[in-house]
Amino acid sequence: MTEFTDSEKNRVESGTLYLVATPIGNLSDISERAVKVLNEVSFIAAEDTRVTSKLLFASGIRSPLFSYHEHNKKEAGEKIIERLKSGQSCAVVTDAGTPAISDPGEDIVKSCIDSNIPVVSVPGACAAITALTVSGLSTRRFAFEGFLEGSDAEKRSRLAEIASDKRTTVFYEAPHRLSETLSIMLSELGDRRISLCRELTKINEEILRVRLSEAVRIFESTVPRGEFVIVVEGCTSEETPFWENMTVSEHVAYYSQKMGMDKMSAMKATAKDRGVSKNSIYKELI
Ligand code: SAM
Repeated sequence: MTEFTDSEKNRVESGTLYLVATPIGNLSDISERAVKVLNEVSFIAAEDTRVTSKLLFASGIRSPLFSYHEHNKKEAGEKIIERLKSGQSCAVVTDAGTPAISDPGEDIVKSCIDSNIPVVSVPGACAAITALTVSGLSTRRFAFEGFLEGSDAEKRSRLAEIASDKRTTVFYEAPHRLSETLSIMLSELGDRRISLCRELTKINEEILRVRLSEAVRIFESTVPRGEFVIVVEGCTSEETPFWENMTVSEHVAYYSQKMGMDKMSAMKATAKDRGVSKNSIYKELI
């Protein structure tokens, strides 16, 4: 339930790390709280200070910037920890979206936790969630893979592991690797439905809801431009049980309402389907 926080709760505390989500394209997506925190922290640790300067300028924020990225994260991370221990507050921002999702934010969070430094999330845009929600694919159970890393063989073996996963999977991909990745996905996952989300929240936002084979064909003649999220349908083999996407209570309701069973028999049938005890089904329902 939404709790309307008062200004006291929104106060920036000393010795605290703030993970501040920034827009993934549309500058209006910055939150009021993000602007407040960015304005009030002692310094902002940014993945690319030039990119962040533009955002700060657009929002009238003047806090000092500190460079923290993949290639200096060890030394820069140590400096951030020192400054936090001395009582300063820090906001971590990445080029776009939610820090710690496929970017160096993850490391500074771990270091802060190891040093007992409080970490506070200031949530906002995240490319993976934005793409998933408009995909039209199942959002009930999903997995996030980020970038498929490594050699061709490593990517294939990663996809082979994912192939039997019934959950929707979300990938990030750079435009120059998109065609190759789509082809590997087609050969390892089969001709699944995908939602290819390009330039989300930007003027050129485009969402292609197609099968992998069609996406491969499209990019044989079109050069991919911009940023992409690939949302891939989960495995839909014949063995998928009818209750796969039901909650426990929906599953029990299916037997009681649609099959006319009494409550006890419905719980027993649900437990049998799921290979769990009737007691655990009962506990889930209360
Ligand atoms: N932490 C960020 C987040 O979760 O929103 C993502 C950082 S990751 C280094 C950058 C990748 O996110 C891009 O290569 C692209 O795959 C995806 N991405 C970011 N912004 C996007 C956008 N506006 N449209 C589509 N994909 C986007």
